[in-house]
Amino acid sequence: MYDIIVIGAGPAGLTAAIYARRAEKSVLVIEKSSFGGQMTHSPKIENYPAFTQVSGIELADKMVEQALELGADIEMDDVTSVKDMGDFKRVICEGGAYEGRSLIIAVGVKHRQLGLPRENELCGNGVSYCAVCDGAFYKGKTVGVVGGGNSALQEAILLAETSKKVYVIQNLDILTGEVKLQNKIAELENVEVITGATVEKLLGDPELTSVMIKTEDGERLLDLDGLFVAIGLLPKNEIFAELAKLNDGGYFDSDENCKTATSGVFVAGDCRQKSIRQITTATADGATAALAACRYLESL
Ligand SMILES: Cc1cc2nc3c(=O)[nH]c(=O)nc-3n(C[C@H](O)[C@H](O)[C@H](O)COP(=O)(O)OP(=O)(O)OC[C@H]3O[C@@H](n4cnc5c(N)ncnc54)[C@H](O)[C@@H]3O)c2cc1C
Repeated sequence: MYDIIVIGAGPAGLTAAIYARRAEKSVLVIEKSSFGGQMTHSPKIENYPAFTQVSGIELADKMVEQALELGADIEMDDVTSVKDMGDFKRVICEGGAYEGRSLIIAVGVKHRQLGLPRENELCGNGVSYCAVCDGAFYKGKTVGVVGGGNSALQEAILLAETSKKVYVIQNLDILTGEVKLQNKIAELENVEVITGATVEKLLGDPELTSVMIKTEDGERLLDLDGLFVAIGLLPKNEIFAELAKLNDGGYFDSDENCKTATSGVFVAGDCRQKSIRQITTATADGATAALAACRYLESL
């Protein structure tokens, strides 16, 4: 039986583990796919204090290393449900079950999809949600990035370094990412921004070869080797809905101490209702949730 089980090894979950171990609580972190969470998709992080510039993978490695050195256990597994047993919680995973006196849910968010026919089938065959993971496959090729916010512009800038041509396809009439990123995009000769455009069809079999976009002037066929979708994030909290209340947007409701209405259950990071979703705010939540869990354990 662990004192604290943390679900998710993004910056929120790893920081929670670091704080909990420093308070001498036994801790298990369970992660289903990538240690470090979303930041492992970011090639350059320039807003995390103490690092002028750091890759997400490097920052993630440092956080994992710190949690392990402090004595946290880390398991690779997919949590499928949690049973509230009163004084303890049973966390059920694909590969087994674990018990903890308290629980910190730090499961982040997932990428929003376009919702087009064959999108899932083409995922990995030309459609991607992560330029840093898949960008290297498109060296010297033509790619599209759907979206106009910070993530989309960061992905377009990264892809422009190696791809022949990058189209940024944005449904609004303006880009919404930071001005600094917009200025960088404007400087890049191999990036073309198409605003007021939506992707209507994904074409090509078995691999993507083109997309049909709809603009004010009508339809336009873009020949593309790859399409990177960067149109926002969705919480993935449904499996915990009985344990922690979800709001209309699907995010966890919690108080400023990351406490939920269920005794011994805390939430941290992008999965909870908040206005700013960044690494700094995720780590802040991780610290807050861990210390709240420690106070809860001491009160038992
Ligand atoms: C491309 C990109 C660039 C970014 N750039 C920056 C930046 O420059 N600066 C910045 O501050 N922020 C940036 N962000 C945002 C930042 O990465 C997130 O705000 C932060 O990672 C949120 O941390 P988190 O721990 O809450 O969630 P996440 O990082 O999403 O981690 C949650 C983890 O939980 C795991 N998980 C989910 N469900 C389960 C389950 N059922 N069982 C087990 N594990 C589960 C997931 O696999 C994931 O690893 C960027 C994000 C992206 C996608």
